[in-house]
Amino acid sequence: MLGISKLKHFFYIETLSWSVAQDKRFSSSSAERPIPGNSVLRHLTSKIKSTGPISVAEYMREVLTNPVTGYYVQNDMLGPDGDFITSPEISQIFGELLGIWCLSEWMGAGKPSHLQLVEFGPGRGSLISDVLRVFSQLSGALGGATVSVHLVEVSPKLSQIQAQCLSGDQSRVSASEDEPVYRQGTTAAGLPISWYRNLDDVPRGFSVYLAHEFFDALPIHKFQRTEKGWREVMVDVDPEEPDKLRFVIVPAPTLASTQLIQSDEKRQHVEVCPEGGVIVQRLANRIAGDGGAALIADYGHDGTKTDTFRGFKGHKLHDVLASPGSADLTADVDFSYLRKMAGAMVACMGPVSQRSFLKNMGIDTRLQVLLRNCADPSTRAQLIHGYDMLTNPAKMGERFQFFTMLNHIRLTGKAPAPLPVAGFSELGLS
Ligand code: SAH
Repeated sequence: MLGISKLKHFFYIETLSWSVAQDKRFSSSSAERPIPGNSVLRHLTSKIKSTGPISVAEYMREVLTNPVTGYYVQNDMLGPDGDFITSPEISQIFGELLGIWCLSEWMGAGKPSHLQLVEFGPGRGSLISDVLRVFSQLSGALGGATVSVHLVEVSPKLSQIQAQCLSGDQSRVSASEDEPVYRQGTTAAGLPISWYRNLDDVPRGFSVYLAHEFFDALPIHKFQRTEKGWREVMVDVDPEEPDKLRFVIVPAPTLASTQLIQSDEKRQHVEVCPEGGVIVQRLANRIAGDGGAALIADYGHDGTKTDTFRGFKGHKLHDVLASPGSADLTADVDFSYLRKMAGAMVACMGPVSQRSFLKNMGIDTRLQVLLRNCADPSTRAQLIHGYDMLTNPAKMGERFQFFTMLNHIRLTGKAPAPLPVAGFSELGLS
């Protein structure tokens, strides 16, 4: 099977620097975090007072990615001492299995001579670092192919943490703010690594794209069905309490409410993420033109949920309009919308639950191998706890969904038969 049996060896590799990963992930990091809430609130209320209510999308954009005060720009919010924790921060196995997925897609595409690994919103760099460790362990499977790493990250603060994680003190920041590549470095294994603010700046070429908990951070518009038709939900200043924000349904249609609702929409309330739609269209265009695949994993649904906009602060739900800038804002990803935006340019699969995806990728075997080779009771307990968090349907197993976009050739195949798409069906190890 196109040499995929080489991947099999991965499941027999013993512990992979677990103690290093563990230290990195559970270290305290946000002790000196600024609390920018008041200045963000002041800025928003004065803007609303002068020009009227703002869309939820504008509110999210200002709160999360304003270049000066943005929540992502200012903070390291991930981990036990931050506001939320993500799968790659919980267990090394998550990134390892995604590394196997990248390799298997590269193999399924006929092993092109150069592979670009592109990650959107890499957070603390844990996922790509686990992916790259698998690439190092399985470098034999790559033959002579070269690999480069490309990170799309809006946050200078997080890009610095990613650079430290992936290339130690070796990365260089570009001299001018206008450079499309704003930071460059080399990984421990000698692979070139570059940072960008936008996908458009990433070079074209065969690429495997990863986006984990990235699309849920992109701004959404909210709409309510009313007797008069669809109306947009916006953010206004509360007339009773001028330093408080509230939601209002605007009386007249907006450009967004006339353009973003699908004609066959059945729900009473919908959230639409046009920025996510544009990114997916650009990805589809690249994958169709250059070959490759994208794996999008996030909280999500297939066009069924309604009101999912929420805030997280200190691992607890937080009122989305209270002290803006002090909490993460997120909305479930509507995969049915992403599929529509991708159109016919690419083949789409999923969404499938995280539990199914990871089980298909061999998480049970991988856990057994790590446990067999690990005597330390606390590390064993961490491994089991991580596995349970990722796969338990009552924890992250069902809420998180995996969706992929592939070049059509990948499925229509060359002789003898196309390799099954790992994760969406069982990883072929025979
Ligand atoms: N993928 C990581 C982090 C998720 S948090 C993990 O799973 O642990 C969201 C990430 O997306 C952060 O790195 C944040 O800075 C980045 N991000 C948010 N909005 C962005 C945007 N518009 N463009 C690029 N990166 C963005």
